[in-house]
Amino acid sequence: MNFKLVSVYQSPRVNGFWGMAIVLVACLLLAAPAANASGVVLQYHRISDSGPAITRTGPDDFAGHLALIERLGFPVRSLPDMLAGVCDSSDESAIAITFDDAHLTVYEQAWPLLRERGWPFVIFVNTAAVDDGHGGTMSWQQLRELVEAGVIIGNHGVDHRHMIRRPADVEVDEWQQWRRQQVIQAQQRIDEEVGPQPLIFAYPYGEYDLATAALMEELGYAAFGQQSGAFGCNSTMQALPRFPVSGPYANPESVELKLASLPFPTSGRMLEPVQPPGMRRPVLSLTLDAGKVEGFEPTAISCYATGQGAIETEWDTENSTLTARAGAPLPVGRSRYNCTVRNGLEQRYHWFSQPWFIPDADGQWPAE
Ligand SMILES: [Zn+2]
Repeated sequence: MNFKLVSVYQSPRVNGFWGMAIVLVACLLLAAPAANASGVVLQYHRISDSGPAITRTGPDDFAGHLALIERLGFPVRSLPDMLAGVCDSSDESAIAITFDDAHLTVYEQAWPLLRERGWPFVIFVNTAAVDDGHGGTMSWQQLRELVEAGVIIGNHGVDHRHMIRRPADVEVDEWQQWRRQQVIQAQQRIDEEVGPQPLIFAYPYGEYDLATAALMEELGYAAFGQQSGAFGCNSTMQALPRFPVSGPYANPESVELKLASLPFPTSGRMLEPVQPPGMRRPVLSLTLDAGKVEGFEPTAISCYATGQGAIETEWDTENSTLTARAGAPLPVGRSRYNCTVRNGLEQRYHWFSQPWFIPDADGQWPAE
């Protein structure tokens, strides 16, 4: 299974001498260190000083983030454009801004500041909340107004249920059908209400497994989790990272390093983030095209586990494989390993995050 939407090795069929010449030039270009085309996506929920601490970013901090982006000079791009261009060797790093759950505060607080700058953004909508008129949620009329101004509405499922938590009494086929309906029905509602939108999806709670990612690929979506990091041409397009910048991550000082982050040159398949019951020290094994990126020094990579700080990390030069494993069991629920390394040529960090979703010994999940 190939999770990449676009491959640099896909090239038009060419014949004869000129074909050979083109192939030779292409090979020379591919042999050179790759350009740093990369994307950093910020994930917000509500822009407010009230509401649940974990999902809120204060208006002052939000304004601080925008000022920081302006100072650093990275372009803010439309997310679909960024995805479409990630394999162009344009040598550009860009930022995209996203909001989950269609909070009214996005309309009231964030939009005026973004409109003033002419910056595009995405709102990932769980459609039942808008259909039911949940308090504090935007209406379809407000979302239409945003779309007319250039905002993109992404898919966040129908009712925000966990896509990796199959109840014991539901068969696998039935569960797969339910997941498919979550995506298709939400897209139908969005397209009916605001007009056809690009196929981008944000997993509720950032939770996905291999089967969900494969479904998203089959349906033609690029899909985002909530693990941190930058993405590049080699990233798995159905397990894309975003930096959460609310709650404890809203402080503008901590955001600067993230805005400037670069992807890891990953290759190979994505790992299954959902662990079997009882498996609480997952092994991260990443194959990297280390030689393709100037200044990327794999022997200097450090990895960290949620709540544990630095963990044992090894680089195997012969097999170009990075291995990391937590020293102590991860808690039940959502955790991550974050791996970073400073680029030897720039004051910027390569940043990769692997989410892990860990059930208890009986295969049950904590209530949310
Ligand atoms: Zn959400």
